[in-house]
Amino acid sequence: MPDSFDLPSLTRQLAQAMPVAPSKLELGPQSTGLVIVDEVNGFATVGAGNLAPPVDNPQVSEMVAETDRLARAFSERAWPILAFLDTHVPGKPEPPYPPHCEQGTGEEDLVPELAWLEQDANATLVRKDCINGFVGAIRADGSNAVVDWVNAQQLQRLLVVGICTDICVMDFVLTLLSARNHDFMPSLKDISVHAGACATYDLSKEVAASLGLPETAAHPQALTHHMGLYFMASRGAEIVGDVVLAD
Ligand SMILES: [Zn+2]
Repeated sequence: MPDSFDLPSLTRQLAQAMPVAPSKLELGPQSTGLVIVDEVNGFATVGAGNLAPPVDNPQVSEMVAETDRLARAFSERAWPILAFLDTHVPGKPEPPYPPHCEQGTGEEDLVPELAWLEQDANATLVRKDCINGFVGAIRADGSNAVVDWVNAQQLQRLLVVGICTDICVMDFVLTLLSARNHDFMPSLKDISVHAGACATYDLSKEVAASLGLPETAAHPQALTHHMGLYFMASRGAEIVGDVVLAD
């Protein structure tokens, strides 16, 4: 049976019923950290793996370009940057996803445009083996790499970018919003998400079926990106569409 809707109009209707209103963020003297979620080859370099875009994807390309612009601006000011890198032990599955970002494949490394961060003194790289970076940052002794980073720098605001808007970005941001109220990062006041530097993947119902996947694997990009932003905003994250840094 053909669908009774078309996706572009459904996305427009959803945006009308559940609006997200990105604001402009001007970063000044307030202590801000940039969090980059999973901008690794396995998610953001064309053809790099099971979960990488199969063809050039404008939303992903714009995310990488805007992340590079922001990261260079942060680095010039010696402001802190934390990058999550999805990294899995080979052969250890992460359901419901197919194998991805296994250690040693190169999928688990930053995309070429951001590889300079590996050598940058302002950047902290955190490898994680699960969707939620806050959980992935928990060490064997119970301490947390994100909490330690926020507290060491006395960060007042986190600006979050990356992939996927409605998966790893959203899970991290929603958890961070709870952690903020739990008072073990006393300096942290604001959690901002840059909509234009986030992206998610596109998998139509038809392509899912052609790959032998259930129709519930369908993941239309514009719609799920909007839903991710909506849920983060509805829990208290500030969604921004434009980020300006003071000189
Ligand atoms: Zn993963």
